[in-house]
Amino acid sequence: MSYAYDATNIFARILRGEIPNKTVLETPHSLAFEDIRPQAPVHVLVIPKGPYVSYDHFAREASEAEIVDFTRAIGEVCKMTGVALDAGNGFRAVSNAGMDGVQEVPHLHVHIMGGRDLGRMLQPAG
Ligand code: 5GP
Repeated sequence: MSYAYDATNIFARILRGEIPNKTVLETPHSLAFEDIRPQAPVHVLVIPKGPYVSYDHFAREASEAEIVDFTRAIGEVCKMTGVALDAGNGFRAVSNAGMDGVQEVPHLHVHIMGGRDLGRMLQPAG
């Protein structure tokens, strides 16, 4: 089985310039923009420009250049938004995948959230 990427997803449309976004950072292989429904004072989504559905897809099939660029973009976003640990109070990086991960948009994105105490990571099941 191979990964199935749906090019009509909303982040693919953002990358094609069909839908506006509040860009925080653009690099050769990545884009970072404000989440439309922020769950914390800092809530930025970092996405690769390539057609990857999830983090596991990206980790397995992206080029080294894409992986380095994306990882560095996440570091830069943390620095730019003031949540990086060398100067700020920290953050949570989350990447939901698939049905069990309750992924809404099927294009890899890492949520960078911070600016307040975010509480524990998961609520107890049930
Ligand atoms: P997921 O549940 O897939 O991890 O998160 C998808 C995220 O994308 C949500 O936090 C949601 O608010 C955000 N989102 C959905 N549609 C748009 C959009 O059109 N623009 C932006 N900037 N964010 C979006």
